[in-house]
Amino acid sequence: MHPPSLLERSIEAYATVTERDRLERLRELAETLSGVRILHVNSTATGGGVAELLRSIVPLCNDLGVETDWLVMDADDDFFEVTKAVHNGLQGSGEPLTAEMKAIYREVTEANAAEIEAEYDLIVVHDPQPLGMLERLAERMPDAPIVWRCHVDLTDPVDEYRAFVSEYTDRIDHGIFSRTAYAKTIDVAETSVVYPSIDPVTEKNRSLDEAELATERDRLDPLSFDEPVVTQVSRFDPWKDQFGTLEAYRTAREAVPELQLVLVGGMAGDDPEGLELYERVAREAVDDPDVHVMTDLPDTTVNALQRLSDVVVQKSLREGFGLVVAEALWKGTPVVGSTAGGIPLQIVDGHNGYLVEPDDATGAGNRLVDLLEHDERRTTFGENAREHVRDRFLLPRQLVDLLEIFVEALE
Ligand code: UDP
Repeated sequence: MHPPSLLERSIEAYATVTERDRLERLRELAETLSGVRILHVNSTATGGGVAELLRSIVPLCNDLGVETDWLVMDADDDFFEVTKAVHNGLQGSGEPLTAEMKAIYREVTEANAAEIEAEYDLIVVHDPQPLGMLERLAERMPDAPIVWRCHVDLTDPVDEYRAFVSEYTDRIDHGIFSRTAYAKTIDVAETSVVYPSIDPVTEKNRSLDEAELATERDRLDPLSFDEPVVTQVSRFDPWKDQFGTLEAYRTAREAVPELQLVLVGGMAGDDPEGLELYERVAREAVDDPDVHVMTDLPDTTVNALQRLSDVVVQKSLREGFGLVVAEALWKGTPVVGSTAGGIPLQIVDGHNGYLVEPDDATGAGNRLVDLLEHDERRTTFGENAREHVRDRFLLPRQLVDLLEIFVEALE
């Protein structure tokens, strides 16, 4: 296990985007939790939404006076092949789960659990990767409630994988899911639904001035913002359906011939599928100079792209929540997204973007055209978008929800 290096955060920085009452409530909850030691465990320090959330939540809790550590599991690709299969199985597709895969999972999770030496009063494990650690942690710290924060889309899990995860869930005191429907799928003693959130003060989401935007525009050359741009920001993962987005782009291009498409992706440390998919997407796009496939962009550049694009697209086949949708909406950019998982919580069809069925690439293409051809509609949707996120999907709201659950779990 290792602790990632984190930047400090101050709760004061949120005063301009959050109502006073909410910040007061946070301080109150933090006061109740003072003296409590909390541990978060997950399987990657970078890439993907969970790492993104923890990078904000952990330093902010410490700033509020709640002693909070974050440890990342140490594991190699063999383990991550297994946990990616578990992730895929829970989201509804998958190869058979073999005895060898289970053995790898057991061995690595037990070895990681054995490395935790400090004592904690509450343990929060994220997603299925650390579940195998729970038995040992529960033995070592029998009084510490265990919270499972599951970020996965559990709409329709493969039975074999649901059963595998369920072998570990009797150790969990409280499960937190991103949608009500997910909570019904897996048997956990107590459950809550907490919507994830974006952090408005990070490099990824803070406002950028004209000079900064100009610098980023130059950096993104030969992409031109004088012509229409549609962007998707996602890990290279089959669920994110970059090929469906390419199809939607080709449909839209028939009506908007100068259209450019940007597919930005990162490689999460716990996702061995990423590189292969990136190469397939890049090959598919190689003959089209207006499709730009980019990897591992700095956060400021992702921020600028989400702002400067005319429309953002997120046509996922499954999606636990989809922070990238809230990120784009917060920047005033309408999103064409699918009805998968957490996306419809964020897109109000015809208000801040459009929803299409996950397999409807042509429909997505037509919705892109609708927004690209109507400047006023795009502007109105963009204004609605920011307001929709302000109240529901910013970090202080999520932190209030989480700390309330922690207080309750400790009672
Ligand atoms: N992300 C990024 N660069 C990339 C791809 C993704 O910074 O090239 C970030 C993205 O901005 C978001 C997170 O990774 O904050 C992805 O979270 P989301 O919930 O959308 O999907 P997940 O990867 O967790 O399935």
